[in-house]
Amino acid sequence: MNNLHLQFLLSAEQHALGAMFFTDMNDELLAFIYPTETTRTFHTFFCPPMKIVALSGDGTIVFDQVVTKWKFVKLPACRVVIECGPQADYSPHIQTILSISTDLPQLGAIDPSVQMDSLLFALLSEAVADMRRIRDTHRGQIKPEIQRRKFEVWERGQIVSSAGFLLDFCDTWSIPSNAVRLSHSILQAEEPYLDELVAASVAGIPWQHEFPNACMRCGKPGSWHPILSPGLRTAVEITWRYQRPENCIPVCHHCTETLGLLQNKKIQIDLVWGLWGPRFDALWRWHQARKNQHLPKWDMVAYPLWPREFGGETWEGGSGALKDARPRPPYRVKRSKEQMKILRQALFSKPTRSRQTGETHLRKLLNFRLELSQGETP
Ligand SMILES: [Zn+2]
Repeated sequence: MNNLHLQFLLSAEQHALGAMFFTDMNDELLAFIYPTETTRTFHTFFCPPMKIVALSGDGTIVFDQVVTKWKFVKLPACRVVIECGPQADYSPHIQTILSISTDLPQLGAIDPSVQMDSLLFALLSEAVADMRRIRDTHRGQIKPEIQRRKFEVWERGQIVSSAGFLLDFCDTWSIPSNAVRLSHSILQAEEPYLDELVAASVAGIPWQHEFPNACMRCGKPGSWHPILSPGLRTAVEITWRYQRPENCIPVCHHCTETLGLLQNKKIQIDLVWGLWGPRFDALWRWHQARKNQHLPKWDMVAYPLWPREFGGETWEGGSGALKDARPRPPYRVKRSKEQMKILRQALFSKPTRSRQTGETHLRKLLNFRLELSQGETP
């Protein structure tokens, strides 16, 4: 039996996105069809482990490899590229793919390698710049304690990604030997924390300056306050999850006093639970599991935020997957009626000083959205 779901990717945009943000490739078979036969560079950044197969114009298999790490893959001259799960048997589909590819209209002859080379160059120079920054900070020998003290966790994540990236390329590209040496030392020094650092490089980036800071109760300037706290002896590498928006509420000084927020743990939880619904639920489950030392081992590359079973399948429903990991405001979070009720009660049980009555400011926050970046669904 072969239940693969065959998809053709024909436009430049489809080609560029490919399998990015797929959770796994188990049932998927992606066929990239090109108008011309030429060497191509594929990358697997943000992709699950997969098999990549390349075919020449006459259907000969010229490349067949399982790629498990995020990297660039140089393919020999080919006209069709197939991506599927590492174990999948694509052979029954070859005839279909080839017969369709010859019938397809010839698309504009864009050379995909041009764009890829400039992306590659930009990534490489950024990685080398990261290593320069490291050299200037450490003056010679890499010291783990300096790395832990001087950089935020998400920055350390980007630095180890850069280091890994440079090492992948140092055989094929001429990269300054100092940068290569530093990359080795960095990966060695950060080895115990790699999973958390890479997760933080995507999910732990700062977001406060992009979100409105108006108090959700009265609208006056306030700031985002975290609710759950990590505890004193927590390793700095995991504290970034407590700084996630899902653990924060925007309130002003005055409302903090009026509600007696600092002394009242229950109202704090009501507010953050009501605001973030299933996303706070998932964070809470992670927090509890960590406190009780029941945290399962999980795939932090695919699920940087929390284990898959802690949240739903969509961002709105509490997913902790890579595609849902970038910090986002609470727009469209799937709150239950109960959560909305609790949120209102907690906010408005005491009179506000604001002239605008009711929920104006809360509404403003719930309707606030960031500019969408490419590839995100509205
Ligand atoms: Zn206020």
